[in-house]
This record gives sequence, C-alpha cells and structure tokens, in this order.
Amino acid sequence: MKPIIGVVPLIDEQKESFWMLPGYMDGITMAGGIPIILPLTNDKEEISQLLDTVQGILLTGGHDVDPSLYEETPIPECGAISRERDSMESELLKQALERDMPILGICRGIQFLNAYLGGTLYQDLTTQRPSDTEHHQSPPYDVPVHSVMVMEDSSLFRILNVRSLYVNSYHHQAIKQKADSLKTMAVSEDGIIEGVEMEGKRFVWALQWHPEFSYKTDDNSRKIFMEFVRNCFD
Ligand code: MN
Repeated sequence: MKPIIGVVPLIDEQKESFWMLPGYMDGITMAGGIPIILPLTNDKEEISQLLDTVQGILLTGGHDVDPSLYEETPIPECGAISRERDSMESELLKQALERDMPILGICRGIQFLNAYLGGTLYQDLTTQRPSDTEHHQSPPYDVPVHSVMVMEDSSLFRILNVRSLYVNSYHHQAIKQKADSLKTMAVSEDGIIEGVEMEGKRFVWALQWHPEFSYKTDDNSRKIFMEFVRNCFD
C-alpha cells in the first residue's frame, strides 16, 4: 500500500479559489506516495479524522505567516496573510506532532513550523536583513541561485551526503529566532537558516527552498521527497 500524503491547500482570494502547484503532488507521486489535497478546515474533529486517513502531511508554500503568531505587528513589507491557513495549520501541526506523523514543510512550511513552535520570522528579508544573495528569484524556479551549507550532524547530511548544495530560492521571509525544538540542517551562504528538523520525531523536516520546482532536474530534491515518503510507510 502506498502512503497517502495530505497536502495543505493553496488559497487564491482574488479568484475565490483553492488551488495547487503540480510539483507538490508530482514530487510525492514520483517518490511512491499518493498525494491528496486537504480541505481547508480548522475543526478539531475533522482534522483528527483526516489524520486517520493519511500517513504524512505536506505543509505547502503560500501566504506570509501572521506576525501575531510570534507577537509582532506587521511591517508594511509583510505580505498578505491567511488567518484560515494559520488556523488550520496550527491544529494540523498540533495533532500531527502528537501522533508523531511524518511532516515535510516547504517555504511557508518552515516559517509556519518555526513560528508555531515559538520562533520568530524576518517579515521581509530585503528590509530587515539585506544581503547580496538572491532569495527571491525570477522564473524558471528550478534553477539554483544560492548555496546552503549542510550541517554534518543533520538528517539532511545523512541522506544527501554533501556538505553544501545549490538550491532555488523564492521567499522574502525566513526564520529569525529559531524555535528551541528545531535543529538546524542547512544554512544559506549569507547565514539564513534554510533547513530544520525536529529531533526525536520520526520525520519532521522543513526547508526554505523548493524541491517541488526542482525534483525533475535535481537528484537532491528527489532524495528529499523519497526520504519523506519512505518515512510515511507504516
Ligand atoms: Mn533562500
């Protein structure tokens, strides 16, 4: 039986739509899982029932995290937030972590996980932490634009066996103060935490870059999806 992975829906307010980038789905499929898009809900019972039917959770990219989660007020450069997603993902993380269910967070996923666990974010890198490194690239998004150093004591190093790798980058927020329960797996060339894991859990990884844009061309991106899905087998 292939593991079923619940994927957090993307929201487009202008079009009054839920939507999905195929890369999130196809990356999971390529790695041997079955992705399903979850309904947007913060209902405890519904989320519990949903978690009974999936073996892993993918936290997708998307809206900026509401700064009130880390007790800040928004600066003008903070982008659009989604209280519905924040609320859904809080309940989803609470229950998924209680169950020790495998979780992969991507982009907003690493930011939300960090804020949920008590860390803080840069609301806008350009304003709050300027650097010569490109973190918000133009298309095509499967092209690497900066390097990250991989911590040798991390699960990422164990799986990829490289001290550094080149990654794409499409974010304007990032981890500022890392949550205590997260361990750094990767740091960008200009010092931004771009990969974390939760020790003592089966598999809780979160990355600031986008393997869903690069898995077709990049072996390391494929290995990340494979390791996630491998951990979702019961
Ligand atoms: Mn980056």
